Amino acid sequence: MKKFLAAIIAVIVMTTAFATVLASSYVGNAKSRKFHYADCSMVNKMNTANKVYMNTREEAIAAGYVPCKRCKP
Ligand SMILES: [Zn+2]
Repeated sequence: MKKFLAAIIAVIVMTTAFATVLASSYVGNAKSRKFHYADCSMVNKMNTANKVYMNTREEAIAAGYVPCKRCKP
């Protein structure tokens, strides 16, 4: 029974984490302090460790991020 509960919890945690990434429309770079649309080519080149996922433009600006000059989010 304990194993069953642990499996259920693991599925919920993974689903939530996955949904968070999918729902994020913007990706910020913690190092350069710039943010991009999630589909900007710069995002693919970005180091995974520097990626910060954000849902709204306001959220990015409030966190001190500057819009990317290429994708102009
Ligand atoms: Zn960009």
